[in-house]
Amino acid sequence: GNDPEESAEKPALEFRNIVHAYGSVVAVKDLSLSIAPSETVCLLGPSGCGKTTALRVAAGLETPSTGEVWMGDRQLNGGARDVPPENRHIGLVFQDYALFPHMDVFQNVMFGLERMAERERRERALDALSLVGMADYAETYPHTLSGGQQQRVALARALAPKPAVVLLDEPFSGLDARLRDSVRDKTFHALRQSGAAALMVTHDAEEAMYMADRIAVMKEGRLVQVGAPRELYQQPNTPFVASFFGEVNRILGVVQGGSVETAVGVLPAPGLSNGAPVEVLVRPEALRLTPATVDSIGPGYAKVLSARLLGRTSLVHLCTCKTTGEELHLHARVPGSYLPVEETIQAIELDQSQAFVFPGGAAK
Ligand code: ATP
Repeated sequence: GNDPEESAEKPALEFRNIVHAYGSVVAVKDLSLSIAPSETVCLLGPSGCGKTTALRVAAGLETPSTGEVWMGDRQLNGGARDVPPENRHIGLVFQDYALFPHMDVFQNVMFGLERMAERERRERALDALSLVGMADYAETYPHTLSGGQQQRVALARALAPKPAVVLLDEPFSGLDARLRDSVRDKTFHALRQSGAAALMVTHDAEEAMYMADRIAVMKEGRLVQVGAPRELYQQPNTPFVASFFGEVNRILGVVQGGSVETAVGVLPAPGLSNGAPVEVLVRPEALRLTPATVDSIGPGYAKVLSARLLGRTSLVHLCTCKTTGEELHLHARVPGSYLPVEETIQAIELDQSQAFVFPGGAAK
């Protein structure tokens, strides 16, 4: 209806049970996901998991095999007639939507505004360029700009028509690491200020954590977990998500009386029955080391194979060398102020909040 409160709650963009196949390859399998107005959601996953396909379906560049796409009250796909891309009023920052080389920056940003009066077009274009910090470059040509500057102009071009939704596909992938941080930051703030909802594809978990209000993790065409960055980092629901959000040590174990005993400590395994095989994933940061006063390795101890100071942290490679019959190799990341001596035995204290127990894992 016209009730503003009701429409304010409508998602800016919504996928309802989207399936998309290219011939026999099913790239997206039953995707349902809502993006709230002004929200930034990152689609995160390894190469080939269907992220780009989902974005192209939202843009109208692919027609889904089944399912619906909605923008607020407007049904874009799955209704009587699909809304063509140019009528969706969605901003696109895609790799294959490069800037027009024969137009200057201002003309590039004006391009998406042709249906407006000249005066308003110019105002909108200038506003959008100011938003991304590129107003001073209005009269320059794309080839004279750095990759990061070109990326910001592309974002300005997408934002100038004031779309309710912007779709970004790996927008920082062409930039070198140092430039990337600054362009990322400028994009983050420009998106916030514009008030547009954004759906951004990335395969970089740290980038997703930086940019997103919520992250939607995809694997083989399906969503595996959706949540705030902190939630996914601290409470991954699968080994896949846990290892996507940082390095993990993988330790196999068996449940005994509601917990699992490992070489680095005992962890609760609630709801799992006696004898159930489990996979314990432990972040390197979860292992705290202190010099041991023992001279043989038992549970809770390990020998230093190598230790490297990396600056803020030290990376320590440890081995439980023949305590339990099977050797367990571990990586620990400790403060850079501590660099244990090779071949020494260390006592290990486990931060349980950075260790995750999952059922299964017996065979891999
Ligand atoms: P990447 O990060 O490598 O782009 P992605 O997660 O974005 O990966 P998609 O590009 O959506 O994944 O591809 C999903 C699956 O669909 C892959 O198996 C891919 O090979 C296949 N695919 C994508 N585009 C096409 C196409 N035009 N024709 C046939 N198969 C395609």
